[in-house]
Amino acid sequence: MSGGSAERNVVLELKDVDVFYGDFQALFNVSFQVQEGMTFAFIGANGGGKSTLLRTIAGLQRPASGQVLFHGEAVDSLAAHKRVGLGIALVPEGRRVFPSLTVRENLVIGAYGGRKGDWNVDSVVELFPLLKPLMKRQASSLSGGEQQALAIGRALMSNPELLLLDEVSLGLAPVVIKRIYEAMVQLVGAGHTILVVEQDVGHVLTVADHVACFLEGKISLEGKPGDLTSEAITAAYFGM
Ligand code: ATP
Repeated sequence: MSGGSAERNVVLELKDVDVFYGDFQALFNVSFQVQEGMTFAFIGANGGGKSTLLRTIAGLQRPASGQVLFHGEAVDSLAAHKRVGLGIALVPEGRRVFPSLTVRENLVIGAYGGRKGDWNVDSVVELFPLLKPLMKRQASSLSGGEQQALAIGRALMSNPELLLLDEVSLGLAPVVIKRIYEAMVQLVGAGHTILVVEQDVGHVLTVADHVACFLEGKISLEGKPGDLTSEAITAAYFGM
């Protein structure tokens, strides 16, 4: 799927996934594969189904039909915390941190139920040095950018293989967005596979190996960023 990656392992596969909220269908027949070490971006306007997709992979939403496979094994019957144990971590939209806990406590909680690996408080601080002087601060007192770094750091503490990032740059200052995108490149370099949801197409296409556009619960376009024209992306994004 991505350049020179034909022989890479498939980490995640979705097969014909349908997801409903009551009678409302949010995802229709969604299928794709994600290979090891890939940055796979999901773009699309509000309500396209991108957050639902990440929540479904993380186990917070169940498909009505279809399958989610992690390393070829169906994980549909596994609760979210079991998927964390397998190496799937979600950074949800809205920089959710535990507001009354300190930065350090938020990080330590992130390790609960996770896997063994190189991520710990020190390595997270190395990735996001801005957290270093904030360790004893209550998370509620942090700026948006600091909270986002903390939210990503907390997910890393579970030592995931697959990191799901939902709208991580939304509402943040350009300098923070730049740092988060640099961190994504470092994370892929360290062996992680990343699925990232963004509305801001410009940024995400600079790091993505593969991109899929969601429109009304369906993939309206997908491919390597270099193979897609901006006209095709705009048409798929807005349904023109
Ligand atoms: P956004 O950027 O606004 O989060 P999105 O592409 O991530 O958009 P989703 O949040 O996955 O889209 O929403 C897909 C559709 O499902 C939308 O029509 C939304 O209104 C609906 N939806 C999402 N969550 C729920 C819910 N808990 N109950 C009912 N409908 C929902």
